Amino acid sequence: MSAEAAVKLVTETPPEEIARVEKWIDTEEYKEKNFAREALVVNPAHACQPLGAQMVATAFEGTLPFVHGSQGCASYFRSTFSRHFREPAAATCDAMTEDGAVFGGQNNLFEGLENAYALYKPKMLAVYTTCMPEVIGDDLTAFIKNARLQGHVPEDLPIPYANTPSFNGTHIHGYDSMLKSILETLTAGQKIEGKCTGKLNLIPGFDGNTANIREYKRILELFGIPYTVLADISEVFDSPCDGHYRLYPGGTKLEDAAESINGKVTLALQKYSTTNTMKWIEEEYSGEKVAMPMPFGIKKTDEFLMKLAELFGKPVPEELKAERGRAVDAMTDAHQYLHGKKFAVAGDPDYLLGIVSFLLEMGAIPYHVLCSRTTKKFEKEMKALLATSPFGATGKVYINKDLWHLRSLLMTDPVDGIIGDTHAKWAARDAKIPLFRIGFPIIDRVNLHRSPVIGYQGAVNMLTMIANKFLDMKDETCENQWFEMMR
Ligand code: SF4
Repeated sequence: MSAEAAVKLVTETPPEEIARVEKWIDTEEYKEKNFAREALVVNPAHACQPLGAQMVATAFEGTLPFVHGSQGCASYFRSTFSRHFREPAAATCDAMTEDGAVFGGQNNLFEGLENAYALYKPKMLAVYTTCMPEVIGDDLTAFIKNARLQGHVPEDLPIPYANTPSFNGTHIHGYDSMLKSILETLTAGQKIEGKCTGKLNLIPGFDGNTANIREYKRILELFGIPYTVLADISEVFDSPCDGHYRLYPGGTKLEDAAESINGKVTLALQKYSTTNTMKWIEEEYSGEKVAMPMPFGIKKTDEFLMKLAELFGKPVPEELKAERGRAVDAMTDAHQYLHGKKFAVAGDPDYLLGIVSFLLEMGAIPYHVLCSRTTKKFEKEMKALLATSPFGATGKVYINKDLWHLRSLLMTDPVDGIIGDTHAKWAARDAKIPLFRIGFPIIDRVNLHRSPVIGYQGAVNMLTMIANKFLDMKDETCENQWFEMMR
């Protein structure tokens, strides 16, 4: 079958008109119209709230994520995690349909909770909503109370729940709401005045990179700091293939989460995905509370390690000092391949702050920085970061714009590469520039979640990926006389 015959035409539009529009959407005139767009979002660089809630729910020992809402939404969350991590993503759903939308979803929730508990014997059921029950105003507090009263679930089964309407916020807000609810539930009645576990509670935030979590743990072990990672996905989404299926692999132990309220320090490494959780922790938890940026690149990793040293009165381990030296060496050796290169960067606020900081260290230019749903506060913080370096002087920040806006920027004011998740591949293809896949989801390449991007090792990994791609491109496109052995 010819390529033409394989495509079923859905429009009568003549080919000349299609060709004209294809050219027109690359123009400044179109960009202006595109940026005047108000009522439509095209290819945003974020996912919906319940997806973030599901990541947290999955990250606790023996916990079954439970979607109160539509089956289709639940499939979307599960398939996104399975495609990104290439692992099973266990979760269940009470499959609300038309009658639920009319009469409310209480009966669906009763039946769903009862079945889920009977079949999967979870230690905790974490419930979160999709848009439909939020639109009709389902009252989760009352529904779950009634489910207990009517014996659908045992009285003592922890059932944290979060309202996660996707018409408001993104996956990072769902993450925040669910984490707060789980910690509220597990720590209730556990605070003991004067008790201190001596441990660090580390909150990584919404991070689709399991190796980042393993890297945090390795650093803490080198320091000799006892810790609990609150919402630990490292085993859950990176469990060994040894012939045994585990419904609940890994996750933060419920006992450890319960006693985290008596910890020595609680440290969040993403400010924007933990805002409400940290507000609540500030009031309820013992010990010190700190929220700081993700440790991307040298400066931010230095700050992270110095903070650990200060909080726990321990010196920075020699092994990490040597690692820093190697990372600086690698950056010096390869700086010429990134220096002066212009980048577009799209993604979550906390990731963006980290990536931009790393680019500035490399003398690269973060030129278009785009976050598809965030606040003026983030915009201000990003502008302040860009202002710290001459390489940030030409950088522009776009908030609440999507990847179709980014495409217009790339076509009218080009850059050398994009850093972002898989959603940016269309813009990269149209602009004929490489996409460096950092973020979530990455569903068209393998194993990138197994390679850390934080810490000194993460800086080397990002640098290697970016520099080698530019070198590959040079080898693939240069004329014969410039095809060199050495680059
Ligand atoms: S945006 Fe709403 S309706 Fe769409 S998948 Fe997310 S929760 Fe479901």
